[in-house]
Amino acid sequence: MHPVDLAALPPIEVGARIASMVAGLPATEGGIDALLVSDLTNVRWLTGFTGSSGWAVVTADELVLVTDGRYGRQATQQMAAARADATVPTRVVEGRSAAELQDHIADVVQGRSRLGFESAHVSHRDWVAFGESLVAELVPTVGVVERARRVKTAAEVARIAAACTIADQALAEVAPRLVRPGVSEVAVRDALESRMRELGAAGPSYDTIVATGRRNAPLPHHRPTATAIEDGDTVIIDVGALVDGYHSDMTRTFLVGEPTPLQREVYDVVLAAQRSGVAAVRPGITARELDAACREPIVAAGYGPWFSHGTGHGVGLLIHEDPFVNASGEAVLQVGDVVTVEPGVYRGDLGGVRVEDLVEVTSDGCRVLTRSPKDSPCLPSPPTT
Ligand code: ZN
Ligand code: ZN
Repeated sequence: MHPVDLAALPPIEVGARIASMVAGLPATEGGIDALLVSDLTNVRWLTGFTGSSGWAVVTADELVLVTDGRYGRQATQQMAAARADATVPTRVVEGRSAAELQDHIADVVQGRSRLGFESAHVSHRDWVAFGESLVAELVPTVGVVERARRVKTAAEVARIAAACTIADQALAEVAPRLVRPGVSEVAVRDALESRMRELGAAGPSYDTIVATGRRNAPLPHHRPTATAIEDGDTVIIDVGALVDGYHSDMTRTFLVGEPTPLQREVYDVVLAAQRSGVAAVRPGITARELDAACREPIVAAGYGPWFSHGTGHGVGLLIHEDPFVNASGEAVLQVGDVVTVEPGVYRGDLGGVRVEDLVEVTSDGCRVLTRSPKDSPCLPSPPTT
């Protein structure tokens, strides 16, 4: 039985996003007349278009999606499906060559004097080409769409929550069967990923991490190998599902066999830190403060040097996106942010322990979207409901 009914997910609507981008043009970088969106994740968020080639041009009057001939029909269909709430007109323009695409963009922005472009996403080659083909002044912008993308709508959170539920279900089924001595990391990974697909995911949200023992568990981004789980290992499983372009992200650490006093102590320290972090999530807290809420219990217990990464990151159409939660994070959390809380301690004499949940920031704190049990020691059991 499927844990979530993906067909019942509410549609993603992009009309309000386009309207707000248009409204924001005068306040962007001292005022721009148009914004050329080239990052494909940003293009998708603004238009619903999922192809691998396209530019979205936002002007005061319209949004034009410029794409190549392979994608014209798809772009038209996807924009039509995603713009039920549109107030700003949209259209799709196809080009057959790079030069034709440049010409179309030039047509759309003709008469505009200041054209914003995404400085983090435009190649030098394209920048030179724009300089030659456009009469407008090119104005570098940073993070305009990314900042807007941070705040998730209910339809987006529903997809992320569905992805979390699929990963919870897969882990609940696979861990009791396969997190045991003699089973390889890749066997656990393959079982998790195929089960998530069977449950309706488009695939894993990222390369699933299964890291076992003193050699592999200390590597936060270890790639699964043929290494077999052994009695006494810590096993870190970092797993997420992909649903309609939206990601989930969760880590659980299993202690195989009877935990040593050190393993039990570190597990309890990391879990307490993770709970402290989740309890601190609310609108108005800075990323730096949230990182401290999670880090201080680990530092106080003497394991600070082995918590070698930031506390978390935003999750949405990308697995890692704004806001990044670390010791220097300036971002202020707001309602609609979806972020991870994922402290870890990694040591050669121990292996590693990481506990990660994905939470949605709400007006009174947060809602935890990942539901797999995490009580210490974390032994395989069915998910809580
Ligand atoms: Zn993760
Ligand atoms: Zn993460």
